[in-house]
Amino acid sequence: MLGQTARMSGPVAREDAGLVPQGARPQPPTAEVVDARESLVGGLTVRRALPRARRRTVGAWCFVDHVGPLAVEPDGGLDIGPHPHTGLATVTYLLEGQVLHRDSLGSEQVVRPGQLNLMTAGRGVAHAEEPTGAYRGTLHGVQLWVAQPSATRTGEPAFEHHAELPELALDGADVRVLVGELGAAASPARRDSDLLGAGVTLAPGAAVLPLAPAYEHLVVVLDGVLLLDDGRPVRPGQSAYLGTGRDELVLAAPEGARVLLLGGVPFGEQIVMWWNFVGRSREEVADAARAWEAGDDRFGAVATGLDRIPAPQL
Ligand code: MN
Repeated sequence: MLGQTARMSGPVAREDAGLVPQGARPQPPTAEVVDARESLVGGLTVRRALPRARRRTVGAWCFVDHVGPLAVEPDGGLDIGPHPHTGLATVTYLLEGQVLHRDSLGSEQVVRPGQLNLMTAGRGVAHAEEPTGAYRGTLHGVQLWVAQPSATRTGEPAFEHHAELPELALDGADVRVLVGELGAAASPARRDSDLLGAGVTLAPGAAVLPLAPAYEHLVVVLDGVLLLDDGRPVRPGQSAYLGTGRDELVLAAPEGARVLLLGGVPFGEQIVMWWNFVGRSREEVADAARAWEAGDDRFGAVATGLDRIPAPQL
């Protein structure tokens, strides 16, 4: 039984595993302010904005962890041994600190603030996330997953790193476009569905962001206090779900703020998320777990000194 083991499997808890149908999405101009769930990942407490029982996806975004800010030693911070993924892309984006990414494609890449680390799992890949051994200071960032659509989800794995990303200077906000496009700025990063991911730095005051009305959006507050257009505050550890149908978004931050803006066309496929897999059925994710435990070639090997993370018992 998957449900029986999921509570100890991480990172997707049973409550959020999405084995029940999603609720109806609100119509604009509704904004839902939701508290993140605290979770333990690689020895660190993170704040998980997605998935939640009533909101499993925003566009194809299906997993949103906010890490830090916290002080780390050179051998500390994110420290996660080799583990597998299927059917999703992982996105790592840092505001501060460093993370070393290694994967079974042979990639070895230090991720630094402002850069985009994007690994697409397709039918299967494995990676490790490690301290660089050379950084002491603050670690602050996000780790995200994007569900792949059926058209690509069983395809070949791939890795991209983008040290340079397009920026958009708006009145009152600097926007770095990680994935997709906002206004005149378009990211070169791969995307398998209509998707937006952007880091927004708000100056004290307010800014107006152009949005795609066909997209639903989620604003995750990373730093500072954001005020929605109805005056409600949104703080770090909270996010605001904004539904579809907006062509612009007013973001006010009297003292400035940093937020992550995620969006996309509502994902039309029912997904099953379990452990580190995104599939379409319990059988499929159970097969993936068995393949990992059997050392199947589909995941390859990661060149690292860290221990493999075993799949939860099936
Ligand atoms: Mn991972």
